[in-house]
Amino acid sequence: TPRVFSGIQPSGGLTLGNYLGAMKNFVQMQDAGDFETIYCMVDLHAITVWQDPEALRRNTRELCAGYLAAGIDPERSILINQSQVPEHAQLAWIFNCVARMGWMGRMTQWKDKAGKNAEAASLGLFAYPALMAADILVYHTTHVPVGDDQKQHLELTRDIATKFNHDFGVEFFPITEPVIRGAATRVMSLRDGTKKMSKSDPVDASRINLTDDADAIAKKVRKAKTDPEPLPESVDALEARPDVRNLVNIYAALADVAPQAVLDEKAGGQLGYFKQDLADLAVAKLAPISTEMSRLMTDPAEIDRMLARGAERAREITVPILERTYEIVGMVR
Ligand code: ATP
Ligand code: MG
Repeated sequence: TPRVFSGIQPSGGLTLGNYLGAMKNFVQMQDAGDFETIYCMVDLHAITVWQDPEALRRNTRELCAGYLAAGIDPERSILINQSQVPEHAQLAWIFNCVARMGWMGRMTQWKDKAGKNAEAASLGLFAYPALMAADILVYHTTHVPVGDDQKQHLELTRDIATKFNHDFGVEFFPITEPVIRGAATRVMSLRDGTKKMSKSDPVDASRINLTDDADAIAKKVRKAKTDPEPLPESVDALEARPDVRNLVNIYAALADVAPQAVLDEKAGGQLGYFKQDLADLAVAKLAPISTEMSRLMTDPAEIDRMLARGAERAREITVPILERTYEIVGMVR
């Protein structure tokens, strides 16, 4: 059966970017029923940059609540926390020995996150894509829904699978396909339309959090950086206006229509009015999710029980694949 795996880091609260670029597609793929779906809180990835331990625990449970509130069903999908399925980290070591330093050094996420002081970045941040390849391949995953920013890491996952298969003369790991779809596969910062919206951005006004209340959302959208021109008639005219394009794309994704359809309706309108409509739409779409998240967060023990069960189910898949990998590599078992 075709199998889907994807993950989100508990490195902060969920953003509108995570929802539109990732989670919404996760739910659609689960509901379509064409795939076996596995969704993950990737806590081992989160600690590639410093995480306060108590905040990490809270963010992991809150992310689990976010998955459930958005529509992930822990019976139909396997819902797990990465560190509770140890085969991810075990396979990652093997992949650290398959991947090349040069491949990792070319990753734009590495360059963005390490910044100018790469010497001071963690070794884990550099090796991040090998762990991500292990997350995916330890399930022999065939399809990975992600936002556009993860495309390069997916290509590296394919390179690792290809090199492993070639080095050991086997057809063992599949060559995984990325699934990138929707009107907002790359939601940009509200303060800078050329920068990705991120949950780890230090500026809270740069993003909409799924837990923001109606007032906070309205305020952030109202203050979003834009130019004073009205909305144009065609999406082509948005090319040179990244901040406005971002708001149009967000509106389109929330309304489940194409960006051009938004302009067909609203061309010529002033941005002040458009921002009000956008804030109302965002509140209407996000409020049910954040309400359900708060409800679920009142019972963290239930979340922990769910994650323990998810890990058990996941290991029925991962343990045999890791054992076979060790055999192929030549480890005595
Ligand atoms: P961090 O800043 O800690 O890296 P993040 O917001 O980038 O956090 P991730 O956990 O790295 O979130 O990514 C989870 C999923 O959300 C991935 O599939 C990623 O492609 C998607 N995603 C993240 N940010 C955006 C965005 N701005 N637009 C669309 N998709 C996004
Ligand atoms: Mg990220």
